[in-house]
This record gives sequence, structure tokens and C-alpha cells, in this order.
Amino acid sequence: MGVQLTKRAKPVDRRPMTWLESLYLWNIMKGMAVTIKHFFSRKVTIQYPEEKRSYSDVFRGLHILNRDEEGRERCTACGLCAVACPAEAISMEAAERKPDEEHLYREEKYAARYEINMLRCIFCGLCEEACPKDAIYLSKTHAPANYHRKGFIYKKEDLLIPNPLTEPEEYKKALGTIKREPKS
Ligand code: SF4
Ligand code: SF4
Repeated sequence: MGVQLTKRAKPVDRRPMTWLESLYLWNIMKGMAVTIKHFFSRKVTIQYPEEKRSYSDVFRGLHILNRDEEGRERCTACGLCAVACPAEAISMEAAERKPDEEHLYREEKYAARYEINMLRCIFCGLCEEACPKDAIYLSKTHAPANYHRKGFIYKKEDLLIPNPLTEPEEYKKALGTIKREPKS
């Protein structure tokens, strides 16, 4: 045996098996005992999606693009979230607000296109930290499974929180349990 880095290595028993050992009865019984023990012990499997495990308070899930209390989109397409993202998962295109769109967008500039590639995202939360407008945060839901890659490209329409004025119930549901301080 070479140099041992730990004391865990055990020498292999290379003696020829006896007739009784070659029947593997004792080993089968040991295996069955493990199976029976687990059969009657408390089940730890969660029957998802019928049953859902509660998440930790610090869980970071699917992103939400936020609106203000008047239902206007907060995002100004400044790009700070995209710059902060270590996975380069965020892309966007900015557009200028027109005079008759003041009820839609909070600032003069807004994101005409905003996308997050959830296959790249590592849910680190740096986009949320970087945003100066409280426009993006990570919720307590996760991206559902999908058979296609393009199903993981979340567009602005997928990410935008429901309007609190027109869909108050949906808005509350989307806010989840995250405690949020209003920013000006
Ligand atoms: S959570 Fe992290 S990896 Fe995901 S989009 Fe935000 S900054 Fe990028
Ligand atoms: S989400 Fe925030 S950081 Fe990202 S572009 Fe919009 S305003 Fe800027």
C-alpha cells in the first residue's frame, strides 16, 4: 500500500470465499434489512408539485420586474443589472417615453426589450443589488421546467409584475413574502 493521506483506507480481503459465502445469503439479508428499515421510516420525499417545500428566507428565485404604486414600469434600461451580472444573462434595449406614455413608464427612458436567460442565471441576486430604481428583484418562485431552451429566455412580458391598480390580487401574489422598502 502506498502513502496514506487519511486513515480511512482499508486493505481488501482477498481470501477465497467459502461455499456459504459464495451464496451471498448474509449480504442479501443485510441489503434487505436496509430496504425494510427505510420502508417503515419517515418519508422525506416531497410529492412535488402537489406538495411544496417551504423555502428559506434567503432563497432567491425567479426575477420580477417591478412597477411603482401607480402601476408604471420602474425600469429605465440603465443597464446596471446587465453590467453587474456575472453570467451575462441579461440583455435589453432602451426606448424613449412619449408624452402620452407617462402613465406607463416612470422615467423618460424605459426598457422596450428586457430578457433574462435563466439557463445562464446563477440566482446570485447581483442584478437586484445593482438596480438603482428598485426595478428588479428575485422572488420566491423558481423557473418551471421546460423541454426547450427558448422556454428559459424570459422576456419583459414574462417578468413584469401585474399592475397593482388593475390586478391588485395578482400583484399581491407576485410580491410574495419578500419584505420591500419603497424607494423614491
Ligand atoms: S441573479 Fe445573478 S446571474 Fe441571475 S440575472 Fe441576476 S445578476 Fe445575473
Ligand atoms: S432593472 Fe434596474 S438596473 Fe436593470 S436596467 Fe432596469 S433600472 Fe437599470
